[in-house]
Parts: sequence; structure tokens; C-alpha cells
Amino acid sequence: MTRAFNFSAGPATLPESVLRQAQAEMLDWNGVGASIVEISHRSQDFIAVAAEAEADLRQLVGIPDDYAVLFLSGGATTHQALLALNFAAPGQVVDYVVTGHWGKTAIKQAKPYCTVNIAADGEAGGFHDIPPRDSWKLTPGAAYVHITANETIHGVEFRDTPDVGEVPLFADFSSSIASEPLDVSKYGVIYAGAQKNLGPVGVAVVIIRKDLFERSGQPRADIFDYRSHAARDSMLNTPPTWNWYLAGLVFKWMLAEGGVGEFARRNALKSSLVYDAIDASGGFYRNEVVPAVRSRMNIPFFLPDETLTSRFVAESKAAGLLALKGHKAVGGIRASLYNALPVEGAQALVDFMRDFQQRNG
Ligand SMILES: *Cc1c(COP(=O)(O)O)cnc(C)c1O
Repeated sequence: MTRAFNFSAGPATLPESVLRQAQAEMLDWNGVGASIVEISHRSQDFIAVAAEAEADLRQLVGIPDDYAVLFLSGGATTHQALLALNFAAPGQVVDYVVTGHWGKTAIKQAKPYCTVNIAADGEAGGFHDIPPRDSWKLTPGAAYVHITANETIHGVEFRDTPDVGEVPLFADFSSSIASEPLDVSKYGVIYAGAQKNLGPVGVAVVIIRKDLFERSGQPRADIFDYRSHAARDSMLNTPPTWNWYLAGLVFKWMLAEGGVGEFARRNALKSSLVYDAIDASGGFYRNEVVPAVRSRMNIPFFLPDETLTSRFVAESKAAGLLALKGHKAVGGIRASLYNALPVEGAQALVDFMRDFQQRNG
């Protein structure tokens, strides 16, 4: 068996040791005589797993006690709608800062429930930069300001938390949570689908400053109410137990590897290896994002033409470098360098890139 280096944008690569542990525990978890996917979410056994995953995530990310942590299904996109339902009054203005594809998705999901103000939009510039903070047209009294911390498709990442004053800042951290130290206290809500940097698809993490639960939001079913989920420890209905367990194993792995400080170091190293290879290629490889906001997690880049792009995708796959084809919205190549992608993976990609250019440049 050989495991390739997997550059998939999501669902993405997981640590081999986590997969091995899950494999070893598949038929008989913790001596209970059944798989963890076969036992009740209300059992003491599962409740302990769930609580431990939450405690480990709190330690890993540094989540203060005045924040609730929810483990819910639905993916990040569902929460883009639920945020408006829970925290904006009917018709209330919400400010969106759009720096790529997922910011647009966030607006689409929230629009039925609030008045969307696009406070800043990088689309006219092809999403190659983040509009400067002093150009944002924020609304006094907005329900919240929404940003996408890392744009997974366009490869644009906030490198600082923007100051938006009194209005709570809500951020989609799906593709960069736990990739470096984060000051959670600067945010009202942080949410992330797990399948990029935290674990398997099927569970999302929603981190909510508890005072926001006092907002009445809008008429909604109980199952769409974050307060109800929080009151029932994310077990208002049957939670995605397998995904929660597997994410918990990933949290333990990240803590054992040295925590977010160590992943910040590795991610900076991996991304600079790839960006340096692009920038040193004399224009053979091209990344169009302004260097100050280049993503450390997802690197889209382009070759001179479609023929070379297709050849690059096919030959890299044959060389054991998986899923480098770019997202159809932007084309080209995309290398995702999440926490579980080792430094050797980035080095192997860079070696391949140099060799490919020598043969085709
Ligand atoms: C993948 C992704 C999403 C969508 O997540 P789903 O779980 O598929 O809903 C949203 N935002 C960002 C930044 C993403 O990377």
C-alpha cells in the first residue's frame, strides 16, 4: 500500500495515524464489542468522546469559556443561512466583505433572511486582493459583519483580523481554522466545515460568543435554533457521531504534534516552498494573488496554456501527487496544504514543478 500526497481542497487528506487508529477500532471500539458508529449518541461512552473532542478543540484553538462550541451537521453552507436566522432581526442589515467564491455563497444563503449590504467586494479585481479596510462601507447597527478568513478557491487569506468596531465579526474559517494561533475573542462567531483542516466531511464546528444567544433572530424551527443546540450539547437530534469521533482523533493528533504554533510554522514553510517555486519560475507558473494576502492553505496557480495544464495534472497524479486540478471557477492548478499535508508533500510538489518546467518550459 502506498499513500500518495493528497492536495485535495476538501474533503482533504487526514493524518495517517488517525486513519490507522480508526481502522484498528472499527469493529470493536474501546472494548464495548461494537463500532463507535453502532452505539447510541446518548450512551456514556459516546458522550465522553464528544466532550473530550470539545475540550481538545477548546485547548487547540484557544476558545474562551464565554463561547459555546457546537458540532453540527449541514456543512458550512447551512450555517451561512442559520447565522442570519439566529442573529439578524427580520430585514436587518448584515455587512458582507466579499473576497472570493465563499463570500458570495454566504450572501446567497443569508439573503432570504436579512438585508445584505456588500461592504466591500474584491470581484472587480478578480479576487486578487482584499479591499483595504478603510474602503469598507460598514453599516452602523448592522447585525454582524461577515468575512471569509480564507477563500479556498481564490486563494486569498486575511492575514490580520479586521477591526470592525462594536458590530460582531462573523467569520467562515472552514479552510484555515487551527492553521495558526487565532484570537477568538475578536469574533462573535467562527464557523468551519470539518472537511478541510479538522477531519471528515459531515460535521461543522460553530463557535458562538454566548451573549449573542440573547438575540431573538427570526421565527425558526427549534432544529434551526443555535440556543436549542447549545442547551442540548449538540444532541438535539442524532449528531454525526462518526465524524465527531474522527475529528476528535484529529484534534488529539494536532495537540500531540505541537498545537497550532507548530502548524503555523509548518504551514508557513510549506506555502513559501510552493510560492517561491512559482515566483522563481520566470513566469512559467503564475499566481495572481497580491503577496500580502496569499493564502497559506490553498494555492491556485496557472501554466502557460491548457495543454500544459492537463499534462501537469496527469503527470503529477502519476507521480503520486493527488488532486492538483484547479477548481472549475478559476481553472489552472490548486495545491491545498492543510495541516495534515506534511512538509515532504510540499517539497515533493516543488520538485515535481521544477522537473516539469525543465521538460516543458
Ligand atoms: C468548503 C467551504 C465551504 C462549504 O462547505 P460545505 O461544508 O460544503 O457547506 C464554505 N466556506 C469555505 C471557506 C469553504 O472552504
